Amino acid sequence: MSRSPRQALSLSAWVIVIGCHFSVASASDPKSDEGVLFHDSHFHLTNYVQEGPSLSEFLRLMGTKVGRSMVSGIPLQQQWMYANTGDFAPTYYTQTDAPLYYYSFTDAIIAHEYLRLKPEERKRFDPMITGFNPTDMYAADHIRRVLMTFPGVFSGIGEFSIHKEFVSSKISGEVATLENKALDRILEFAGEVGLPVVLHCDVNTPFPRPDQDPYIVVKLKELADRHPETVVIWAHIGLGRVVRPVKDQLAMVERGLRERESKNIHFDISWDETAKYLVGKPEAIEATADLINRFPTRFLFGTDCVAPKTQEQYLEVYEMYEPLLSQLTPEAKHLLLKGNYERIFDEARRSVRVKECSKATGASA
Ligand SMILES: [Zn+2]
Repeated sequence: MSRSPRQALSLSAWVIVIGCHFSVASASDPKSDEGVLFHDSHFHLTNYVQEGPSLSEFLRLMGTKVGRSMVSGIPLQQQWMYANTGDFAPTYYTQTDAPLYYYSFTDAIIAHEYLRLKPEERKRFDPMITGFNPTDMYAADHIRRVLMTFPGVFSGIGEFSIHKEFVSSKISGEVATLENKALDRILEFAGEVGLPVVLHCDVNTPFPRPDQDPYIVVKLKELADRHPETVVIWAHIGLGRVVRPVKDQLAMVERGLRERESKNIHFDISWDETAKYLVGKPEAIEATADLINRFPTRFLFGTDCVAPKTQEQYLEVYEMYEPLLSQLTPEAKHLLLKGNYERIFDEARRSVRVKECSKATGASA
């Protein structure tokens, strides 16, 4: 029997049919926290051709220096188009003109890797659902389906991208936008279940003309305002390889932080490309440290490392940020590196597991 599209769109109709015997992993054990530099709020186990270390190999790279990590795949697959690059097999989106396409199997890879770990090891990871097309009204149904198929595994969704330099225009099909109803459905479902959302959205277009209207900022704020119940982590504060801070970007972020009562918007400072702006000049370090010190509960550290091979490579972004970290208050530094991660992802684990169980038993959440 086929469902009508209307039924298919009913977000509250999701049912987890597998029992709710999964326990909620507790917050980090304080004894094992000693010597831990940070928790990683932004990490990709796979690259743009879905290759990378196993989760147990990554655990070895984390060692005793990194406590916990969110784990996402990459929602996009770079096509190897023979007509374009011949025998050269591109592994990154800048290496070819061939398109990227949404690759849902990435979520199964992440779940499979997580479930291969011992229960004690799993406590250190927060797997994320990323393999959906954010222009598709069925995207929220994909997220629901992943939760149903792998109950007890996922903590959030993302990183997925709306506006992203060099990427958005290469993706097959409809271009993602902040006003797409499909995106509203994703954020609505995330809010309902308690899945934090790691969203990549460049703050501006690459190489804007002087005085070009940074229209993305306005639409992003409107999106967040439409979903006050959804925890959104704005990846890289909207910065990129060539997308520079818009004029007075930190002042703009501060206005947003002051205005919003619901406190649902957070910012991650992940990616070496972000670090190059935030620690590039003494004035930038001072201004960024000042903002984080005044709003310490709203910023998270992440590496945005993609499929790392060595611990040295994995810790590079953390080391780049040393000049910024040294200017933070002890409280702000703790929250940026660990405290905010624990607050957001502990609550996410609790909420998602409860929702999975309540849907299985029919109880109201
Ligand atoms: Zn990323």
